[in-house]
Amino acid sequence: MIFSEQQRRRLREIDTRTVWHPFTQMQAYREEKAPIIASGKGVMLTDIDGRTYLDGVSSLWCNVHGHRHPKIDEAIRRQLDQVAHSTLLGLGSVPSIDLAERLAERTGLSHIFYADSGAAAVEIALKILYQYHRLTSAKVSKPRRKYLAFHNAYHGDTIGAVSVGGIEIFHEQFRPLLFETRFLPSPYPFRWEGEDCLGECLAALERALEEEGDELVAVILEPLVQGAAGMIVHPEGFLAGVRDLTRRYGIPLICDEVATGFGRTGTLFAIEQEDVSPDVLVLGKGITGGYLPLSAALFTTEIYEAFLGEYAEFRHFLHGHTYTGNALACAAALASLDIFEEEKVLEKLPGKIARVREELAPLEDNPIVGEVRGRGLMMGIELVREKRTREPFPPEYRAGHRVTLEARKRGLIIRPLGNVVVLMPPLSSTEEELARMCGIIRESIEVVANEP
Ligand SMILES: *Cc1c(COP(=O)(O)O)cnc(C)c1O
Repeated sequence: MIFSEQQRRRLREIDTRTVWHPFTQMQAYREEKAPIIASGKGVMLTDIDGRTYLDGVSSLWCNVHGHRHPKIDEAIRRQLDQVAHSTLLGLGSVPSIDLAERLAERTGLSHIFYADSGAAAVEIALKILYQYHRLTSAKVSKPRRKYLAFHNAYHGDTIGAVSVGGIEIFHEQFRPLLFETRFLPSPYPFRWEGEDCLGECLAALERALEEEGDELVAVILEPLVQGAAGMIVHPEGFLAGVRDLTRRYGIPLICDEVATGFGRTGTLFAIEQEDVSPDVLVLGKGITGGYLPLSAALFTTEIYEAFLGEYAEFRHFLHGHTYTGNALACAAALASLDIFEEEKVLEKLPGKIARVREELAPLEDNPIVGEVRGRGLMMGIELVREKRTREPFPPEYRAGHRVTLEARKRGLIIRPLGNVVVLMPPLSSTEEELARMCGIIRESIEVVANEP
C-alpha cells in the first residue's frame, strides 16, 4: 500500500498527539519519528514511508513463523467463515476444544483456562492457587496469602502480575497498591557478588520456604530466562532445583512461559530442558504465532478437582474475560502448532542458534559490551560503561536505546531493556537473515561505543 505525503503526515500527527504508547516516554517519542508499520511479510516489516526493516524482536517476542504465514492466514480466514467469537462462559467453542486437547497432550497438564494476555493468565494462576488452598485446607483462621517470586522477575502489568514483579523501575512505585510477596535473589551470574550463584539462590529459596511455611500460596518463576529484566540466563540446574524444593515443601510452582514458550529457548517449552513439570504453566505471546491476543493457564488435575462441587457450595472459579478462548485466536494457535510439526521448526533451530552465537561472538571484544548471553533465539547483549569493573551506563544515557536508533537507520527493529540490547528474531528467520540482524547490531554498537 502506498501512502501519499498528506496521509503520512496525518498518521504521524495523530499518532504522536492521540495514541498513548505502552512503556514509552511520549515526550521523547514525539521527536523521534518512529516508524509507523503498515505491512509485513516473513521477518520483514514495512512502514508507511516504504522503508523495510528486519523484525529483530518478533513484534515484542510473539511472532514465531513470520508475518503473513499462509497457513495461519488461511486458518483465520476459514474460522472467520464459521464464527469470529462466541463466549466460553457456559458454552463450548470448537477451536478452543481442539487447542485445549493439543496443549494438554503436549504439556501433561490436563486443564486449560484461557485468557487474552500473559498478564491476565498470570492473574488467573495466582487467584486459582489462592482459592485452591482455601478449598483444600482445613478451616484455618488465617488463609495463605503470600507469594514467593524472584528479583528481576516480570509477569505482566496488571496489579496481581505487578505484585510478583521484581524489576525496580517498573514495579517499585506501585508497591503500596500490591499484595505481599517475598522476593528471592535471582541467579544473575554476570552481576553476582557471592561465590556460588546457583547454590546461594537455591539456599535462599529453601530458607524462605522454611520460614514462611504455611503462609505461602505459590512460587512463580520464569523458567531458564528472565526476559524483561534483560535476558538473564539462569545457571543450569536452577529450574530443576526450584522444582525439587517446592515439591519437597509442598508449595505449588507456577512456571511463566509467556516469553520462553513456543520454541524460543530451543525446545517447545523451556521446562522440557530440565525435565520439570510445574503445577501451573502460563502461556501467551507466541501461542498464536504472534497473530492474535490469546493466553492460557494450564493446571494439574489435582488443582482442577478441588474446584468441583455442588453449585451452592460456590467452589467454582468466579473469573472470566469477555474474549476468553476467542475462536479466531484459537484457530491461529492450532495452525501455529501444525506449522511446528509440518515445517520441522524445532529441528531447524540448532543451526540458527549456532549461527547467531557465532555472529555475535566478536562483540565480546567491544569495549562497551559486558556480556553476550542467551538461550535459544533469546539473546541479550549487556552494555557497560567500563568493561573491567562492569560499571553500568547511567539510565539517562540510554545506551540501549542509542543502539536501537542506529539499528533502525540500518533496517533493523530492536527494542532494548535498559542497557541490554535484545535480539529475539522470529524462529522462521533464515541463517542469512539472522546474520544480517547480527551484523547490524555489531555495527550499531560500534557506533555507540565511539560516541563521546
Ligand atoms: C510479556 C510477558 C508477560 C505479560 O504478557 P502480556 O501479554 O504482555 O500481558 C508475562 N510474563 C512474561 C514472562 C512475559 O515476558
